Amino acid sequence: MGTTDDYSTGRVLENIRKALHVFDSMEGSLSNNEQAVRIHKKIQEFEPRILSVPEASVYIRKAAIIALGERVCQALHPGSVSTESVFLDELAEVMVRSGQARLASIEDAEQTLKKHSSRPLIISKVSGRYQEICASYPPDCVYWRAEKRGLHCLKHKNS
Ligand code: SF4
Repeated sequence: MGTTDDYSTGRVLENIRKALHVFDSMEGSLSNNEQAVRIHKKIQEFEPRILSVPEASVYIRKAAIIALGERVCQALHPGSVSTESVFLDELAEVMVRSGQARLASIEDAEQTLKKHSSRPLIISKVSGRYQEICASYPPDCVYWRAEKRGLHCLKHKNS
């Protein structure tokens, strides 16, 4: 499972990079490929869920600390569409401390998600709790890319 430490050290980015490399270097469905199955298992540990802005607001309003920053995988795709993520609680704290995000109010976080409302919102578990809400960009996103290759991982929040 991804931990807050993985985010502060950049390990999560390295893991995304490796997964995308495997997706890029193989053709067709990956559901029977051993390496891809291992990646699939790791991705599923984040229990990613697609959610609406009002559903995201519920998490934001319950958080003790909120931060905003560039979506984590954007560093791997220079020149890609720019979107932001909302980080909550312990993850918000480590992202601010490592200079990857800035503290934000509830209103700022909600406005940011509304601004990116054409992008599917995904919430991920980090260190066992839902702490990252990303305005995802499917062509770059490890979850959407996995789905496209037969490695299903995305569910809707209430499913
Ligand atoms: S676009 Fe997908 S892989 Fe990239 S940071 Fe957002 S949820 Fe993670």
